[in-house]
Amino acid sequence: MPTRALSTAGEAAILDALTRHGEPAWRARQIQAAIWQPYVGDFEELLQLHATLRRSLADEFAFSTVSVGAELVADVGLTVKLLCRLADGQTIETVAMETPAGTDSRRRSTVCVSSQVGCAVGCPFCATGHMGLRRNCTTAEIVDQVRAAAGALHRRGMGPVTHIVYMGMGEPLANAAATLESLAVLTAEAGISARRITVSTSGVVPGIQQLAATHLPVTLALSLHAATDELRDRLVPINRTYPLGMVLDTASRYAEQSGRRISFEWCLIGGVNDSMEQAEGLRDLARRAQAHINVIPMNRIEGSPWGPPEPEVARRFLGALRGARVTVRDTRGGDADAACGQLRADLEARRILRPDGTLSPPRVPARA
Ligand code: SF4
Repeated sequence: MPTRALSTAGEAAILDALTRHGEPAWRARQIQAAIWQPYVGDFEELLQLHATLRRSLADEFAFSTVSVGAELVADVGLTVKLLCRLADGQTIETVAMETPAGTDSRRRSTVCVSSQVGCAVGCPFCATGHMGLRRNCTTAEIVDQVRAAAGALHRRGMGPVTHIVYMGMGEPLANAAATLESLAVLTAEAGISARRITVSTSGVVPGIQQLAATHLPVTLALSLHAATDELRDRLVPINRTYPLGMVLDTASRYAEQSGRRISFEWCLIGGVNDSMEQAEGLRDLARRAQAHINVIPMNRIEGSPWGPPEPEVARRFLGALRGARVTVRDTRGGDADAACGQLRADLEARRILRPDGTLSPPRVPARA
């Protein structure tokens, strides 16, 4: 079983392996280029290397630390949701979304990565929060999700990946070491501009400060969801440790240092955070922080008391944000259990996802 991940091994480790096998140094460049080719999924597909070298490298390095267990397509083929299996049998979700070119915008392919298996923050409306934290993802597991998603997009005639968002399962800044390392790999080696990467946080103040210290101009998205401490303590429990005032000050300093406008994410939940008082509070906070607001109407989850507001209530809420910069984001993949952790939770509940991360074959009805 190989112990080292190829995507994060670095040039020196690859060179060292090649030298031990009596291979020229220039092969390292060949291998490093292949890591980021979406049509290469295994050492066996690196036909420019001879078979013995391919086998030796496969013994030493894991070509990828994630394998795709299930692939679901939604939004007329524009969203691909992957259930990614990790070496220890844990599973995480990764989503790839294609946005076709518009009259004033270019085509983009965005990959949403998970940073943890589960999450300790425990937001009550979130399927991942209900799992609790099982473990952090490694740097390679974060990076390899982007590679797996690039492969899925390529197979469907889409891509290449242009944007990355850390908005999947987990709190990226509670796993700051791996998150920051993965940013370094993706920007330096995969060639994704830091300006096209967004890290979302529920408000981990020390993590925001660590992100600022990297001086990478990534966008910071703050999962706000409530404009008062009273409501946010309930919806985003980390608020009890890092209350609104402290988080907003830290986020504003991040915006100043990075030169990047921050965004406020607001999952609009019917009867919970859709009041006029919350809308006006959100508008004022956004104006003060010069933040962009992304409103995401909540997905309806079967059996859950949490859901989207009535259309009229949503219209009034959005009307009260007039004057602020607002985007209403579509809930991509609504027909593929797209809310974070939902696909995994659904497969587990239906006993299709086994505890070791493999999938049960679909049941074949018994013959009469
Ligand atoms: S919404 Fe984000 S921070 Fe909150 S429990 Fe879910 S994954 Fe964790």
